[in-house]
Amino acid sequence: MEKLPRPEAVCTRCRAYTREVQSINQRCPNHVGGKRCQGVFRSALGESDWEECPTCQTTGRDGNGICARCEGFGWNFVIPASNCSQSLSEISESLPICPV
Ligand SMILES: [Zn+2]
Ligand SMILES: [Zn+2]
Repeated sequence: MEKLPRPEAVCTRCRAYTREVQSINQRCPNHVGGKRCQGVFRSALGESDWEECPTCQTTGRDGNGICARCEGFGWNFVIPASNCSQSLSEISESLPICPV
């Protein structure tokens, strides 16, 4: 099985991943709890931003299905330990990607 390339960006709010470069700085299309996600995709191109998914060995596949841990991307975003906002309600496009 081939390893997947790293995703290009992460949603600041729901932490969805995308491989589409054109999605960077765009609103996240996901719905969270019945509402449109307020996050935007921020580029995460650093090598240390990602770790290979140990569940699927970076293939995105687990058995016959999509790996639940990485949602089929083969990579997991490494959440920065520092510089996270205290208040999720104040999250905006300029804030870093933080744990939900
Ligand atoms: Zn989102
Ligand atoms: Zn995985």
